[in-house]
Amino acid sequence: VRARVMEVTESPDVSYEDIGGLEEQMQEVRETVEMPLKSPEMFTEVGIDPPSGVLLYGPPGTGKTMLAKAVANQTDATFIKMAGSELVHKFIGEGAKLVRDLFEVAREHEPAVLFIDEIDAIAATRTESKTSGDAEVQRTMMQLLSEMDGFEDRGEIRIIAATNRFDMLDRAILRPGRFDRLIEVPKPTEEGRELIFQIHTRNMNVADDVDFAELAEITPEASGADIKAVCTEAGMFAIRDERTEIRMEDFRSAWEKVQAESEEDPSVSK
Ligand code: ATP
Repeated sequence: VRARVMEVTESPDVSYEDIGGLEEQMQEVRETVEMPLKSPEMFTEVGIDPPSGVLLYGPPGTGKTMLAKAVANQTDATFIKMAGSELVHKFIGEGAKLVRDLFEVAREHEPAVLFIDEIDAIAATRTESKTSGDAEVQRTMMQLLSEMDGFEDRGEIRIIAATNRFDMLDRAILRPGRFDRLIEVPKPTEEGRELIFQIHTRNMNVADDVDFAELAEITPEASGADIKAVCTEAGMFAIRDERTEIRMEDFRSAWEKVQAESEEDPSVSK
């Protein structure tokens, strides 16, 4: 059961250099997640508790999962991921049991970064969600909060949650001692987009006429995930044309294609 719903990675292959345009967010994640794992004695000596949980919020595909993986990589911590939607079950007690299992797995793999994606699935206000009115979902959330409260020494397990729906969250989970550090992860700025284009084309055979600044300029709504899709798609256009070098025109066509697809598919970021 565990294997199906939890992703456990000993050393995720994402580093800070793979993330474009989130310098401030990276800095905050390093202070709140990396420092307590690397130098817990600093907090003891200063006499403060590190933040309990960190909540990353922002639109889909902006790098929230990447940030959590990079910090796990940097601290040689095990990365453990579960989606909030996996915790919503039909059978009584199943969600709460999965939460207990999740923390047990984390304790077995210390140091660990526990990443709970789509936290809104179990932590939406009653009025906003069909599921959270459910007493069972409430119990699952209570179990999560009590596991967080139960940490005597939180140094070795850090909890990061993520959501695309900050507006829907039950404010109770944001109280001190819970997810008390909020980090907004927005869509990239033009400068950020240029960096992300550079990152995703690192291993690509890019022609001299490709201008990343211009690509950043013509993709104002793109998320990091959209940019990654544009790069892959540009490569496909070159292959279709039986070329091994990717030209500016390939990137332009790719952006048009990615945009058209996101208009068709409501689940893709806008
Ligand atoms: P969701 O809310 O949908 O789970 P997310 O914010 O967690 O999304 P990620 O899974 O981190 O998004 O990003 C998806 C992919 O998009 C990454 O694997 C990466 O290829 C690309 N990507 C997103 N943001 C960035 C970024 N800031 N820099 C570089 N690549 C990015």
